[in-house]
Order: sequence, then C-alpha cells, then structure tokens
Amino acid sequence: MFRPIPSTVSAFEGYRVMAFRQGRCNLAERTLRETRILFAPPLGRVGIFLPAQGTMVGEATLRAVWEAEGAPKVSVPGPTDVVLFGRVWPVRFLPFAGCDDLWEEAGALVCACRRKADPQTLAGRVGAYGRRLVQERAEQLLERFAPALPRRPLRIVVKPLRPRILGQCTREGEIRLNPSLLTWPETVLAETLAHELTHLTHFNHSPAFWRALTALLPDWLPRSLAHYLSH
Ligand SMILES: [Zn+2]
Repeated sequence: MFRPIPSTVSAFEGYRVMAFRQGRCNLAERTLRETRILFAPPLGRVGIFLPAQGTMVGEATLRAVWEAEGAPKVSVPGPTDVVLFGRVWPVRFLPFAGCDDLWEEAGALVCACRRKADPQTLAGRVGAYGRRLVQERAEQLLERFAPALPRRPLRIVVKPLRPRILGQCTREGEIRLNPSLLTWPETVLAETLAHELTHLTHFNHSPAFWRALTALLPDWLPRSLAHYLSH
C-alpha cells in the first residue's frame, strides 16, 4: 500500500519527505505524477498529501508508517500548547496580572489576564493571537511580492476555510488565508500567499499560472507540500 518511490523533493525544512505511489493527484499530476507525499511537520503532526478527492488516512496509520520508515517518534502538542508556524509553544497563564495581554517570552507564550479567565476565553485569546500573527506576516510578505505583482489584492483576510483549503482568492480580489497555516512552517504561508496572488491575474491552474507563480516564487514547489491538499 505505501510503496515509496523516488521524489524530486527529498527534504523540506529539515524534514525528510517521502513520496508514495497512489491514484489520482491534481496539482501533483503536473509534477510528481501519481504520487502522494507524507511528511512530518514540526513536532507532532503527521501530514498526508492527498488529491482533493482523496481519502484521508487515519493519523494512527500514518504514524505507524512514518515510524516504520525510521523517522523519529513524533510528539503531540499538549492541551495548553499552541502551534505557531509549526513550532509548539507552551502557554503560561498569568492570572490577576492587571492587564489583558499576550506576548512571547523565553520560548513560551505568556497570556496575562486581569481575572482568572475560563479556559474557553483563554483559548479564544490565544487563537486570536495566532490569526493576528498570520495576518501580520501575510501583510509583510505582500509588500515583498508587491513590486512583481500586476494587481494588488483588495484585502487579505484570515478566516477558517474548509479543512484542507489553506488559501482562496475570490474574483473580486480578496485573498483568504486559513488560520491552520500556523500548523506549518512559515515558508508554507509564503507559498500559499504567492499562489493566491498569482490567481489575481490567472484565475485557473493553466500553464501560464504556473509560469507566473514560478516567476514570483521560484522555489514554490518544495514550499508547497502542504498545499497539495488544498486544491
Ligand atoms: Zn490555486
């Protein structure tokens, strides 16, 4: 079932990438025909890249396959941890701090609150922090790409999209980014944004689209591993 085949991409962000033969692929058809790629994003998630119409394979199976391949055991973030661009941050709560604030300090995310807030409120604040982070980084990246863009987006919004969709571009020119991008290294955000920005002028996946994307971000392919599942 999982029979590794040679892949043009052997590593991504320090993680080993394996390609597996499988049925139909969409984006992959253009590059890694009939392959599926497994890789472990930092700390704990085993990802599988499937065609949009594919079947999701259970994480336990993936983990077993991954570990059988000699990959290091993966650890799963704890219930109070937060994943920010692929890195697991422990969250430290500071109740009765006199202010409501959130900041990064000594490898942890410190969440200060005036009162002893309930777990849901705290989780909401940490989630909002993550979405703000995606928004800020995306706006910075946009300025980097802007000189090469024929058209600027109307706006960038960070909002939950269907689980396997990382980004969307509407015909009006609004770019939507899934907060789940925080699960992946930041390079995936750059690739997703470049992909959606390219859709502003090519509203399809034609050869012209791929040429334009390559001109905008030449190394989009290794960055795009997470994006295989989104189109
Ligand atoms: Zn697309």
